[in-house]
Amino acid sequence: MKNSKIYLSPPHMSGNEQDLIKEAFETNWIAPLGPHVDAFEQEVASIVGKKAALAVVSGTAAIHLSLALLDIKSGDKVFCSSLTFVASANPILYQGAEPVFIDSEPDTWNMSPHALEKAMEEYYLQNDLPKAVIVVNLYGQSAKMDEIIEICDRFEVPIVEDAAESFGSTYKGKPSGSFGKYGVFSFNGNKIITTSGGGMLVSDDVEAIERARFLATQARDPASHYQHSQMGYNYRMSNILAGLGIAQLQVLELRVGARRKIFNRYLKELGALPGISFIEELQQTKTNRWLSAVTVDEDITSVSVKQILEHMGEKNIEARQVWKPLHLQPLFEGNRYFPHDDREESVSEHLFNTGICLPSGSNLTEDDQTRVIEQFKEALQKAVVNQVVL
Ligand SMILES: *Cc1c(COP(=O)(O)O)cnc(C)c1O
Repeated sequence: MKNSKIYLSPPHMSGNEQDLIKEAFETNWIAPLGPHVDAFEQEVASIVGKKAALAVVSGTAAIHLSLALLDIKSGDKVFCSSLTFVASANPILYQGAEPVFIDSEPDTWNMSPHALEKAMEEYYLQNDLPKAVIVVNLYGQSAKMDEIIEICDRFEVPIVEDAAESFGSTYKGKPSGSFGKYGVFSFNGNKIITTSGGGMLVSDDVEAIERARFLATQARDPASHYQHSQMGYNYRMSNILAGLGIAQLQVLELRVGARRKIFNRYLKELGALPGISFIEELQQTKTNRWLSAVTVDEDITSVSVKQILEHMGEKNIEARQVWKPLHLQPLFEGNRYFPHDDREESVSEHLFNTGICLPSGSNLTEDDQTRVIEQFKEALQKAVVNQVVL
């Protein structure tokens, strides 16, 4: 329809989901758990080349379990990317630990190895090294993993790779989410594939994943009655939702292809406009282009990010500002932050002030892409008109 709402990243079903759900109903494997859960876990583990996987209710739950496995507790420090969704860092607070935020570097928008190294050196000297580093792969683009792994190995700090947005992406030929001690995926409704809500924890440490399974099942001890010696959680994914996941896995590559195509079209049609830039794909990586993001140089466009977003909103198009860095959030007031470069504006703050995410759903029609492109151009045009009037 001509002016129907265009969403940022809506769910995109493959058509096979209902068959798998039907199968779950017919065998009465409604809940809890069941064969779809086992199959979904095995398939994800095999796609990302990891020895074990645990399907859970959300990506946030998967991050939380990874921190529990690393025995992170009150008083511990955990380093975390600043430019990310709050879900990357909330689990640090669940464990009573203290987040320390690390800036982005400009190439990938992800954790700056330079800022990470500075933070490591400082905390090393205080004999207070973090118990983990949570590295986020923003909008599908992998962080500079070689550099980050080198630093974390040197200081012997484990990595949790928050690949919630980068399922289906690769870094130097290896799947995103496979680089840390633990990898985390999200199947929330807006992600590249979805189970309506869900997540996955992956690792090569089979015993650790078994322990996560135990913790995620109310930490129930093996006994004929209900016996508990530790605190647990109710985090396991239901068999119905895992059925959705299996059907969605079958189209993962198609979804990646569709989102990359949308990015390339935006790049082609908007990339040459003065003051508009797109993030380049880091060499030897393939991003799933979960969200297409542009930056706007207001000095050149003389139109602000806010004005563009307002215009898109008026035209029934959902575009969003880039994540607000966590070190600027009231929730994390007082937490330490390490910028990429002390002398210049923080990279993450600059990206927040200039960045816009455009509608990127894999089911976005070509006509709707055209609408987004035309309205984006019109928003820029408006500013020029304003200027002339002034
Ligand atoms: C979506 C997301 C999460 C959380 O996943 P949920 O499944 O919604 O809990 C974590 N980190 C990042 C970077 C995300 O985008």
